[in-house]
Formats: sequence, C-alpha cells, structure tokens
Amino acid sequence: MKTIKHIINNQETTGHSTNTQAVYNPATGEQTAELVLGNAQDINDAVENSKQAFKTWSTTPPAKRAKVMFNMRQLLIDNADLVAETISKEHGKTHDDALGEVTRALEVVEYACGIPDKLKGDFSSDVGPNIDTHSTRQALGVVAGITPFNFPSMVPLWMIPMALACGNTFILKPSERDPSSANLIHDLFAKAGLPAGVLNVVHGGKETVDAILDHKDIHAVSFVGSTPIAEYVYTRGCAAGKRVQALGGAKNHMIIMPDADLDQAADALMGAGFGSAGERCMAISMAVPVGQETADKLIEKLIPMINKMKIGPYTQKGMEMGPVITKEAQTRIEGLITQGESEGAKVVVDGRNHKVDGHGLGYENGYWVGATLLDYVTPDMSVYKQEIFGPVLSVLRADTFEQAVDLINEHEYGNGTAIFTRDGDAAREFASKIQVGMVGINVPIPVPVAYHSFGGWKRSIFGAHGIYGPEAVHFYTKLKTITTRWPTGIRAGAQFNFPTLD
Ligand code: NAD
Repeated sequence: MKTIKHIINNQETTGHSTNTQAVYNPATGEQTAELVLGNAQDINDAVENSKQAFKTWSTTPPAKRAKVMFNMRQLLIDNADLVAETISKEHGKTHDDALGEVTRALEVVEYACGIPDKLKGDFSSDVGPNIDTHSTRQALGVVAGITPFNFPSMVPLWMIPMALACGNTFILKPSERDPSSANLIHDLFAKAGLPAGVLNVVHGGKETVDAILDHKDIHAVSFVGSTPIAEYVYTRGCAAGKRVQALGGAKNHMIIMPDADLDQAADALMGAGFGSAGERCMAISMAVPVGQETADKLIEKLIPMINKMKIGPYTQKGMEMGPVITKEAQTRIEGLITQGESEGAKVVVDGRNHKVDGHGLGYENGYWVGATLLDYVTPDMSVYKQEIFGPVLSVLRADTFEQAVDLINEHEYGNGTAIFTRDGDAAREFASKIQVGMVGINVPIPVPVAYHSFGGWKRSIFGAHGIYGPEAVHFYTKLKTITTRWPTGIRAGAQFNFPTLD
C-alpha cells in the first residue's frame, strides 16, 4: 500500500505523528493509499524550512521568479493527462472534467508569469520641495493554503503561483481525501526550478490546520472549503494576527425567465447542476423558473436529458458524471433527498440507490448517486437551506422576476448566480441588484478568468480579498511607501509642525 507523505525541503517525510488516514478510489470504494497526518511539530519544521527559503526567494528578482512559472506552465501542459489521472483516481471526476480543472489552474500560472509588471509600484516626483515618493509591494513571508477535496489541483494552484510569484514561501495543507495531487504539483514545481523549501506540503486534518492557524511565523492563510470551517479558520487565524481569506460554501441559483432560450437553459442546467457530480462551489443547485409555464416546459426538457446521463468511472470513456467523494457523502446526499421528499418536494428523477455495472473491476462498490431532480422546493426546506454538494438539482418556482431576485438576496450564501433571458433590461437589473459575488448572464458557471479575481459575497467568503488575479497581489503583499529627499544644501531648520507642502 502506497504511503503519501509530507514534502519538506524537497524531501518526503512521515513527520512526527503516527496518525494516518486511508485514501480511497470513490469509483470502487477500495483503499488506494495511506496518508500520514501532520501535527504541530511537522508544521513547525515546515515553517522553519520555509523561513530559510524566504530569505533568498523574496530577494530573487520577480522576473526570475516568473521564469519558474513559465517552466511550470509548460510542465502542466506536458503532464496534463497525468495530473488529470491523479485527480480522478482519488476524486472520481471524469477525465475531461479533470482536464478542465488543469486548464483553469494553468491560467493562474500564466497570470503569475506576468508578475514583474504587477509588482511595479507607483512613483510620484516632486511631492514636496526636492521630495519624491514611491510605493512598492513586498512579500509577507511564510504563508499557507488549506484546500478542499473538490478541486485538488486547481484550488492549490489558485493560491500557490501568485503567492510564490509575489516572493512568499508557501505551506500547502491539502484535503486529506484526495492528497496525491498536492504532491504531484510540488514535484512539477521542483522540476520547474523552484528552490527547495519555497513550497512545502504538510498533510493532515484539524490538528494540522490548527497548528497553521496558531503558528506565529505564518503571516497569511488562504482557505477554501465549507462555510463552517471557513468561518472557524478566519476567526482563529485573525485572532492570531494573520491576514486570512476564507472562501466558503454556496447555494447557487439560476433564474430562467419566460423569454429565455429554454433549450440553452436546460443544457446549462445539466452541465452546471450535474457536472463533477454537483461537487463544485459554482454548481447550480437551484433552478428558479419564472412562471408556471416556464417551469413545466423546463422540467419536460430536463427529464429525458437526466435519464440519458452516462454515469460511471473515469476509466470508461464518454462518462458524464462520476461518483461522489466518500461513502459518508453518498449517505448524506441520499438522506437530504429523502428529507426533501418528506418536507414536500416532488422527486421527479430519483438518483438514490443508483447502480453501476461492476465490469469485474469493483465499480458496483463505488459511491454512486444518480442525477436527481426535485420540483416544488420551497425556501423553508432543508434541501433549499443547505448546500447539498451532490448531483441534486432543485426547482423552486417563482411567480415574478422580483420574487426570484429577493429569494437569492435572502439566502445566506452569495457565491455564484445566473440569469437566462433575452431581455437586456432584466439582465441589467439582475446584475445590479443581486447580492452575489459572481454573476452570469446566460452563463451558468461564471468562474472569473485568471486576470479577474474569484470570490463570493455574504457567508461564501470571510475576509476582504478574493482569490487569484489582481486581488491576490494585494493579499500576498504589503504596501510600503517611501518618501525621499536628497540633500540640497538648503537648511530649513528644525520644524515642529506636522509636515505640509508649504
Ligand atoms: P471542508 O471544509 O470539509 O474541508 C476544507 C479543508 O478544511 C480541508 O483541507 C480539511 O482538511 C479542513 N478541515 C475540515 N474540517 C476541519 C476542522 N474541523 N478544522 C480545521 N480544518 C478542517 O470542505 P470540503 O468538503 O473539502 O470541500 C467542499 C466545500 O468547499 C463545499 O462547501 C464547497 O462549496 C467549498 N468550496 C468553496 C469554494 C469557493 O471558492 N468558495 C471552492 C471549492 C469548494
């Protein structure tokens, strides 16, 4: 059985703890590896190593740091299939979906290649007599990232390229459910020429996270995961004096107006609702058709599409959806469907007890949940309030556009949303009034490109900065402003008043 270890100073290590956790293939339910779990001593080792590496890395010219990113870009392209395979083996998503994850990660690496331009700073001459001012952004020091299971490559790569390009050293604590991607990313960075210790990987769960949050020499923490843990990480990290950005969960609604192209809307709902088995923070889990006729027509289109979905392991070509991440997730999702039904929702397509042919390879034991469609969902139901994070699309019928907008604005989450319409007025009003961070107009999953930043509103984020893009430069650096006067031979004498331009 393979043991997945920490990587500190480019060396694999089992660290100081004897605690381990099994890693599974969700398509078969088989254990594929044993993961070592870190403790405070392991984090301390990583921090000490990262602090040493910071001395050289932070003073390496940004253009040289960018060269590592250029190399990493090429390595990611050359190894895209390997990275995708590593993702799918432990996460379960289809190969094409995993390749999509790699492509979006690659975009962030490409953005980081332009770091010299982004760290240029500002200069103002003659702000006073013979006085000039310039500002510069400097790295924070050792920073850390704590990442979720659902994008085991992309989310770490939302953080690492920009943090490193800005001159920081980085400790990654990946999800314990699909940890191999993190070690592979580390190996690719090492091949790209990243010096030892600039990126360290420490595996683990709560104990490791707490050690990161409490360590005095970790200056910033980026977190992506569920809202309760995001809030915990934010509160504890801030209390320890760190800069923290913590991105949380979601319940993303898509409004379908009566004038929308319903075929296009149905296609969009299929991909956004069931892609990656609904385990995306930008998945659409709520369809909100406006008007009963719109709802009826939409559901009529969705039923055959859902029934035709190809569900199976990533190893089989042409699959559209894989298993969910764990046995517990499967039980939780099926339980929520049952709860929704008992609270009055209509189960139009039922994905509970979904069976997949084993093909003699054990797939019958995978964590399968079939694509599920619930109708007549109402705001008081648990399936509406909770993030299901599975292949369950709920329909909440709204009478008016205003009612649909109010519904979204009242939800505790505000990560992503979309409207499908041909009406420019409605689209514009939606974009302006909606209390959500990422908005799509006839675009179901409006994940911003790498040169815009990603981030929700309300309880989908804690902290002031979005992740990657221009926000990342601000998050991973601190501003220094330098005011300079060169001796001119003129002596003004001691001045005791507050300095002014006069
Ligand atoms: P999770 O919150 O369970 O885990 C995220 C990280 O926190 C992991 O590294 C995990 O080890 C750690 N963790 C878990 N429990 C902890 C505890 N009690 N104390 C300290 N650390 C703990 O999330 P997940 O199940 O891995 O990922 C799915 C969640 O992530 C969903 O809610 C999804 O919406 C969210 N997500 C959000 C975004 C976003 O950008 N907003 C992106 C991806 C995923």
